[in-house]
Amino acid sequence: MAPYRCYIGLGANLATPEQAIRSALNALAQHPRISAVQCSSLYQSKPMGPQDQPDYTNAVATLQSELAPLELLDLLQQIENQHGRVRNQHWGPRTLDLDILLLYQNNLPLTIQTPRLSVPHPGLELREFVLIPLAEIAPTLDLPSGNSVQWAAANIAKNGLHIIAHPPITSL
Ligand code: ATP
Ligand code: CA
Ligand code: CA
Repeated sequence: MAPYRCYIGLGANLATPEQAIRSALNALAQHPRISAVQCSSLYQSKPMGPQDQPDYTNAVATLQSELAPLELLDLLQQIENQHGRVRNQHWGPRTLDLDILLLYQNNLPLTIQTPRLSVPHPGLELREFVLIPLAEIAPTLDLPSGNSVQWAAANIAKNGLHIIAHPPITSL
């Protein structure tokens, strides 16, 4: 597939979250059909949904991919599984979560609606832990609402979100 740019949300709140995110980024950067990986700072955020779980570590990364979007999803789920992801409670605690947020080909947004994959990610504009890290790496990007990332990030409640570490990776 012709290369396209992808934005990925990373999150974790069990075991060693920061290490899982760093390791996932390294796995992506080493893939032969993925290049130009860049990541935001790492953030700490409050859990969404069930509150009886640890705070999350989050980041947003961008990369260029030649994998078809469903192949990219396969790879992300494989990396989640390698980091001990177990699926039980909806929005429950997890060792690693990798969501495809947005895809752009030739600067045009791609829309995908299949049972396994919805892009743009439907929660994207409602989540401070996505918008604020995304604004670090792509402030001028337009969201499905028509708002810029920078505007959306400035206008969402921070809900305690704060930076805990510098960007873990840049591989050009
Ligand atoms: P949310 O998607 O609201 O952030 P979640 O990340 O906790 O919730 P998961 O249990 O990780 O949800 O994923 C459930 C399913 O969502 C996956 O098996 C996958 O097929 C599907 N899915 C649909 N769209 C996407 C996307 N854009 N990125 C990742 N997974 C997606
Ligand atoms: Ca998610
Ligand atoms: Ca997910």
